[in-house]
Amino acid sequence: MKRVAILGSTGSIGINTLKVIESHPDKFEVAALSSYSNTQLLESQVRKFKPSLVTVVDHAKSKEFKKNPGRRKLKLFSGPDGLEQIASSRAIDIVVIAISGACAIGPLLAAIKAGKHICLANKESLVVAGDIIIKKAKRFNASIIPIDSEHSAIFQCISNEKTSKINRIFLTGSGGALFSTPRKRFKSLKVRDVLKHPKWRMGKKITVDSATLMNKGLEIIEAQHLFKIGVDKIKVLIHPEAIIHSMVEFIDGAIIAQLGVTDMRVPIQYALTYPERENTALPMVDFAKVKSLNFSYPDFGKYPCLSLAIVAARLAGTYPAVLNAADEIAVKAFLDKKIDFLKIPKLIEKVLGTHHCVEKPSLGDIMQADRWAREETHRLC
Ligand code: NDP
Ligand code: MG
Repeated sequence: MKRVAILGSTGSIGINTLKVIESHPDKFEVAALSSYSNTQLLESQVRKFKPSLVTVVDHAKSKEFKKNPGRRKLKLFSGPDGLEQIASSRAIDIVVIAISGACAIGPLLAAIKAGKHICLANKESLVVAGDIIIKKAKRFNASIIPIDSEHSAIFQCISNEKTSKINRIFLTGSGGALFSTPRKRFKSLKVRDVLKHPKWRMGKKITVDSATLMNKGLEIIEAQHLFKIGVDKIKVLIHPEAIIHSMVEFIDGAIIAQLGVTDMRVPIQYALTYPERENTALPMVDFAKVKSLNFSYPDFGKYPCLSLAIVAARLAGTYPAVLNAADEIAVKAFLDKKIDFLKIPKLIEKVLGTHHCVEKPSLGDIMQADRWAREETHRLC
């Protein structure tokens, strides 16, 4: 039995991870759960899965949660420190990082230093501090298995091949909610239009990022770090059926692709069971029903966020941290109806344009750039 901690258990990835664990009660046990402030859902998860450790990050909500007399058997933490304590606890074998945003860096580094098996859904941490994270994982012998479907696919395609033998990586994406919406309609888009993703049910932040294609941009940087591959070898391909989750082309012209149903439980289960594979109750792909698989290159004019991410990836240093922080604030402002959709790339571009980059940043430099970019984007909002 592996004891699993799910950081961000009340989110889309967290809920799907619990479903996977529920389908393999002989393999996994839920040992820790966390939410930011959604104590209602956390409460029902605690009742059902009976973990021994729980964190509610928001202090006020955590106090309220503690008042329940049923809490006595639980070790209850609060604040970001609580996530780090769980991530490094001896009572945990596997840490699933399903928190959204760059705030996952702290618990991720704590899990790495404790040498855990880490199932990583969070992409912002790698975008912001990928060099540091990958180096530390090597040093502390921690394994990072990606959950992001494209990266899970690439990880499986590369398998035991040498990364020096890779010619290109094709990072596929369904095209997001606005794939068939002409750019001239972008100005009048409402939050609900942008949140209608055709293929995946995900948290709001990543759904907006999928509509701007910033998600693919962040995924390029994520892949760059996970697979130690130059940004110019990573090509984005729009593939609306979302059956091929990514492909790797090797120097001899052979291409290996990973295919499967469009359901995050597949890469979540693979990350949990790696290096083994286990049965699933999910349906299999029916190719006769899919009929055809389509591909096109992204329209960079329609999706300026993708170009901004590629530029930030090439410039490296503290630019990716600034790109990510500006995006987090701009997307939140859009979701809060404070700015319109077209303002998202404009704000990010402006903030990147005024940033003084640190070329080989320490974690402290990265955190400072992150703070500066958040304040600057807020100011511009
Ligand atoms: P959600 O918004 O659905 O869930 C986020 C989770 O993190 C919730 O449990 C939330 O708690 C918690 N959380 C939010 N802010 C904080 C914080 N500051 N500190 C601690 N916990 C926090 O996100 P998703 O599940 O969609 O995505 C999670 C991560 O996985 C993201 O990085 C995303 O890019 C990545 N990912 C997601 C995919 C998907 O299919 N959803 C696919 C591939 C990658 P609360 O509920 O209390 O707010
Ligand atoms: Mg993805």
